[in-house]
Amino acid sequence: MTEPSKIEPKPVTVLRGVGEALALRLGALGVETTEDLLFLLPLRYEDRTRVVPLGELRAGQRAAVEGEVLLTEVVFRGRRQMLCKIADGSGFLTLRFFYFTAQQQSGLARGARIRCFGEARRGPLGLEIVHPEYRRIDPNAVATTEDHLTPIYPLTEGVTQGRLRMLVGMALDQRKAAEVEDWLPAAVLADSQLPSLHQALLYVHRPPAEAPVDLLLSGRHPAQRRLAFEELLAHQLSLKLLRQRIQSDPGWPLDSNGALKADLQAALPFRLTKAQDRTLLEIERDLQLNKPMLRLVQGDVGCGKTLVAALAACHAVQMGRQVALMAPTELLADQHAQNFRRWFEPLGIAVAILTGRLTGKARSAVLDGIRAGHAAIVVGTHALFQESVEFSSLALVIVDEQHRFGVHQRLSLREKGAQGGHQPHQLIMTATPIPRTLAMTAYADLDVSVIDELPPGRTPVKTVVLAETRRDEVVQRIRTACLEGRQTYWVCPLIDESAEMPYQAAEETATALGGALPELSVGLVHGRMPAAAKENTMRRFKEGKIQLLVATTVIEVGVDVPNATLMVIENAERMGLAQLHQLRGRVGRGSHASSCLLLYRAPLSPLARQRLAVMRDTNDGFEVARRDLELRGPGELLGTRQTGLAQMRVADLLRDADLLPRVQIAADAMLHDWPLHVAALIRRWVGHAEQYGRVG
Ligand code: ADP
Ligand code: MG
Repeated sequence: MTEPSKIEPKPVTVLRGVGEALALRLGALGVETTEDLLFLLPLRYEDRTRVVPLGELRAGQRAAVEGEVLLTEVVFRGRRQMLCKIADGSGFLTLRFFYFTAQQQSGLARGARIRCFGEARRGPLGLEIVHPEYRRIDPNAVATTEDHLTPIYPLTEGVTQGRLRMLVGMALDQRKAAEVEDWLPAAVLADSQLPSLHQALLYVHRPPAEAPVDLLLSGRHPAQRRLAFEELLAHQLSLKLLRQRIQSDPGWPLDSNGALKADLQAALPFRLTKAQDRTLLEIERDLQLNKPMLRLVQGDVGCGKTLVAALAACHAVQMGRQVALMAPTELLADQHAQNFRRWFEPLGIAVAILTGRLTGKARSAVLDGIRAGHAAIVVGTHALFQESVEFSSLALVIVDEQHRFGVHQRLSLREKGAQGGHQPHQLIMTATPIPRTLAMTAYADLDVSVIDELPPGRTPVKTVVLAETRRDEVVQRIRTACLEGRQTYWVCPLIDESAEMPYQAAEETATALGGALPELSVGLVHGRMPAAAKENTMRRFKEGKIQLLVATTVIEVGVDVPNATLMVIENAERMGLAQLHQLRGRVGRGSHASSCLLLYRAPLSPLARQRLAVMRDTNDGFEVARRDLELRGPGELLGTRQTGLAQMRVADLLRDADLLPRVQIAADAMLHDWPLHVAALIRRWVGHAEQYGRVG
């Protein structure tokens, strides 16, 4: 095999008819070279190899059909339109055009023979196709059909399907097999029964007429799997390189035998669960090493991740080094700061808080304390990693609720945390548990610990699914719970795309509930409130002074009020399962039995019904995640924007999950034995390899 550097990519402008303007447009699709064109993969296919007799055509089918025009007329049905009726001896079909020219009308005169392609649907006059692609054919000639399935490519402004198909075709024809570098060594693919890269590319761009259409449409054809394998491998490699790069700098070896941890533990009113113990041990093993830890702790809401993080922090603090704890929202940062102060200040350790809201002199004072090393533990939002923040000796970074941070934020954190050639240890905590194979892929740069146990004495939350028309009953339940001394959350999710709506809805709901429950004190929090007001309300809820808290999803993550036992979620059918599970995790934190009422607006789609049933049937975050993955795919589960994984071109983590174990093995083999191919593969599928680290 050739070395990567020897291949000079040719710009698309070498293709006939491609000028600067078109090249620019193709750039929007990520296509710069002729090779990029080959990796612009079809989103789906259309079968135009076969002409479907009109009598066999079904509603919903996209098909090529042929027939003779019986009648073409312009009519007014609400608006002006042209209807063209065709027949082929087996049945009839209406073609409906809202935009048409006089020339088109005369071309479709009675007796003309036409071939069309489009999606059939049921219309007022039987089956019809609206705005089909069509052309006249010579009634006497033998009609030819396409000899392969028609690929449908992702489009960008100013480039049509036809144009793209032609360009890809040119790129295919110009390139000799050997020119598209196959970076997968034969050994890696051995007995996988997957075709070579060249064969795979040819096949996906030009599937032969006899190609198994259903297999191709479902993305499971070996040619597609070959490409999916390569793409998954490239992603895996990019994350592994990232890890290698971080770990090529030394970390801060931390002794885990100090007294501080014992002191903190002795002050706790409870003992760690087995799972917490095990996770802490795994963390401590990493911390002792001379290379930076990169560890993800997954655990369901309420399993006690914060405490594990605090105990890990002891080891850095004990050695006179600093710890940064980063939370996704100010509310959570405040809560963590409170907890850490409660735990650490009695032991004589200073905890500082730094959020975007802190300004002026107060901010400078905190920054000074961090720079001088007086603040042993610094809690904050991503404000922690702004230019102006300088640590004196940062040895451990803890990131809470990782799903709010993306790969890129993880990257920049690594850049900013480094000091004097040393990298701080990284502990990342997430309450969005994901299945193992998915975790291995999405977090290939991290070691994973799982806290799979809740502290004892928790009663599982009972979840009930209710139509919103039963509000009166719900109000009654709130009254009962609150009069028994418990507290309630009422969540109004984002019901509208418009930025104005969610808090208005929350305000109206708070007013209405206040009216219906005059004996209760009702509070309101939403994202648009000034931080101080939000904080004040949350504090009063924590203190029990507010009994019913109406909120938008700002309370989604991490808020801890054990006395709250009832949660009502409106428009639950609109929300992701992971988010519902997070919200539900706000109750069931104390010893009293808790409930979660999921209100929906009828009618429910079958999918929405299934999803709500999942919430009702299980309290286990892993199970919820597994079902979410099945029902909606990994993009939703991992958060589409957060992971590059959601933007994969051919691979689908769920569909191609069976490839993942082999991908893992291949990734290790490539890093070890074929380092030169790694960068080329990443560049091809993920983008600029430089970003991910040095190779070789
Ligand atoms: P999460 O994992 O969702 O971040 P938290 O760290 O907020 O969970 O913990 C939830 C609650 O459980 C907190 O009030 C915490 O103090 C408490 N907790 C943590 N560990 C234990 C334990 N081993 N036994 C009893 N309570 C615990
Ligand atoms: Mg938490």
